[in-house]
Amino acid sequence: MLIFVANKDSQLIMESLKTEQSFVCRHPEGQLIYLAEHLSLPASLNPHRQAIEILDKHDDYPLVAKRNIAHEVKIGDVTLGDGKLQLIAGPCSVESEDQLIETAKQLNKLGIKFMRGGAYKPRTSPYSFQGLGHDGLKLMQDVAKMHDLHAIVELMDVRLLDTFLEAGVSAIQIGSRNMQNYDLLKAVGRTKIPVILKRGLAATIKEWLLAAEYIAAQGNSQIILCERGVRSFEPSYRNMLDITAIPVAKKETHLPVIVDPSHAAGRTDLVAPLAKAAVAAGADGLLIEIHPQPSKALSDKDQALSFNEFEELVRDLKLINRAPHASEGSDELEK
Ligand code: PEP
Ligand code: MN
Repeated sequence: MLIFVANKDSQLIMESLKTEQSFVCRHPEGQLIYLAEHLSLPASLNPHRQAIEILDKHDDYPLVAKRNIAHEVKIGDVTLGDGKLQLIAGPCSVESEDQLIETAKQLNKLGIKFMRGGAYKPRTSPYSFQGLGHDGLKLMQDVAKMHDLHAIVELMDVRLLDTFLEAGVSAIQIGSRNMQNYDLLKAVGRTKIPVILKRGLAATIKEWLLAAEYIAAQGNSQIILCERGVRSFEPSYRNMLDITAIPVAKKETHLPVIVDPSHAAGRTDLVAPLAKAAVAAGADGLLIEIHPQPSKALSDKDQALSFNEFEELVRDLKLINRAPHASEGSDELEK
């Protein structure tokens, strides 16, 4: 059973509940408490007298489902899903300090606050570049910090979670291939670090939201959904960007929804049109692969935008973000 308890009554109520057997999510206006199936609301608590709201027991994903409860997701000091478009950009893989410094400078120039970069890479072939591992993770955090950026890095192995937390990255990316790695989801759910949860290559929206619920059910409500294209029958591009998933996910949940047009496109020439379509459809942000010398990238070189191409896209996005049907506030891109 899921109950919502307003802040003013929460202490009293928490004392009456066996909190060790409940999962708790904090919200600005109160707390969501999930009571395991075998627990019931203590008789001493009266939903009418105290500010307890029993939420729909039959929701498949009650914690991430759309509610009127104010809910903020933040990476560092930046709020996602507040109507301003946020951009996350950087290389597919961390390759060198110089590569990251050049990237960080470009992000600074464009007023972008988030830098992505993979240190442990999920590659289809075991003979492809696997990432710089711990050195890459450290480089990401050091360079990001030096340039006042928030580092976002993919975590594949639950055994490395503490290493990621110690490194101090601002958010963890759970990649497509791990969307249903439930032990990994539970582990990040037990932390407070923001999680960017990519949609699985062939996952339904419901499976994606249930994966998010796994994280929330452990107490971590700092979840950002990321649509990155799904497998289709079409071979002329890498994945089919599911534009429809953006309004569906936003309607179903209170979580910010961002879009990765790079892994959908698989080709640089398609990244900009997909990015614009995503913003027009209501995406709260974009995650884009860029590289100082795309042709030399050690992974995903066919989809990496050059700095010039990226700059041009950012310019165009400012115009789309002002379109009447788009969310208000393009300030973040104005800077
Ligand atoms: C990535 O972001 O580099 C990546 C591997 O993405 P995805 O999990 O969407 O394939
Ligand atoms: Mn990539």
